[in-house]
Amino acid sequence: MPDYYRHTKIIATLGPATESKEMLSSLITAGVDILRLNMAHATHKWVADAMWFIREVSNEVGRHVAVMMDVKGPEIRTGAVEEPIDLKAGDLIEFYIDGAEPTGDIPAVSVNYEGLPGELLIASTVLVDSGLIQLKVLDKDDERIRLEVLTPGTLTSRRHINLPGIEVHLPAITEKDKNDLKAGVEAGIDFVALSFVRQADDVRVLREFLDGLGSKARIIAKIEDQAGVRNMKEIVKAADGIMVARGDLGIEIDYHKLPLVQTKLIRASQKEGKPVIVATHMLESMISSPMPTRAEVSDVSHAVREQADAVMLSGETTTGQYPLESVNVFKNIIQSIEPTIDRALNKTIKLKEPKAKMLRSAAVLANDLDDSGIVVFTRSGFLAYVLGALRPHGIPIYAFTDIESNFRQLLLPWGVEPFLIEFSEDPEETIQNALGYLKRKNWVKAGSWLVVITNALADEKIIDTLQLRQVEE
Ligand code: PGA
Ligand code: MN
Repeated sequence: MPDYYRHTKIIATLGPATESKEMLSSLITAGVDILRLNMAHATHKWVADAMWFIREVSNEVGRHVAVMMDVKGPEIRTGAVEEPIDLKAGDLIEFYIDGAEPTGDIPAVSVNYEGLPGELLIASTVLVDSGLIQLKVLDKDDERIRLEVLTPGTLTSRRHINLPGIEVHLPAITEKDKNDLKAGVEAGIDFVALSFVRQADDVRVLREFLDGLGSKARIIAKIEDQAGVRNMKEIVKAADGIMVARGDLGIEIDYHKLPLVQTKLIRASQKEGKPVIVATHMLESMISSPMPTRAEVSDVSHAVREQADAVMLSGETTTGQYPLESVNVFKNIIQSIEPTIDRALNKTIKLKEPKAKMLRSAAVLANDLDDSGIVVFTRSGFLAYVLGALRPHGIPIYAFTDIESNFRQLLLPWGVEPFLIEFSEDPEETIQNALGYLKRKNWVKAGSWLVVITNALADEKIIDTLQLRQVEE
């Protein structure tokens, strides 16, 4: 088996530290499965260029990655400042809505949400820049808010604002998101991650918009505030996957409850058979250090043991000094931890269709065979997603498809190794092609027994079958 087979997938965010051809090919070769484009800081030209570049580098190194566009949804940010503003405890600062005039007597910065003065009460807490700067509302009118600085800091351009516990009445996707999505769909994105999903309807709104653009991109709902946590069950059902967005979540809820919410989100996703990503601050210290802290090693191990589908890097690969080392640290931790996890299959998932139920038998059978694997042929990706959700430890899920977009979307679910091939009219020929391919590429050895799930013809009728096949010499 080539050395990059892992059950747990790796996502890296693209940024200045990883945009060179050399670095990008190293990351893809090292085993990154999905690249994330964070639209908080990106232009449309960058999206088109990045996409083209990613596909070209993938082709060159002969290993493919999926692309996830992360749109910002109802995220509130401060505007640009000419010079960073130093804020000391007790200082005053004014926020004014875009288009309004600042009063002019104290330092001021614009905010991108015109409803903000209406949402805040006198004495509300406002957190800026990942909670680093804490402010208290002193006074407000329809267009401006005066705040007192509680914890000091330096305010730079376009910082993210959190309002813990306050339900913001912004739409699920903004005009900016719509334009970002148009650019992304045109460039061929595989996944859309939607920030601050508060309810299942937010996902539906995005789905309708994507349908309108003719896009089949899968939707990852980022859970990052109290409403998202409260409505997780419905959101998991509506979305194609979940991201535990611990950066904002750790500010919006009590930070000491974050591990509990992470576990709940992972369980809720596994129950529905949906992929779940654990994100943010996984190897934060590696932004400036070649080695992770011991606490980070434990945190990543924990996500692997909880059987998240994927772990994600953000700052580590956008502006960090050690992007490749970070990916390698992920890989090493995953490879040490995975073989030690209990081999029990996912018991919480409800399999409805008979064909889906057959997958559990396939996993049990493969587990009884030594050095086995499950081969599945899928046009929609459904069977492979369910197989991954069953968590068959130590058993690679070889998913063959003849649809390119589907092939890349299969890079996310736990344990699935996708391959793009042509399907032939005769199912037997397709199976032989797939087995031959696996053998040529050293995924399987002659003599091994594989479990194959495929259609077969019986008396002119197409039936679902589960077969045992031995790899030929
Ligand atoms: P972000 O989302 O990096 O887009 O803010 C992830 C998080 O908040 O953890
Ligand atoms: Mn976030």
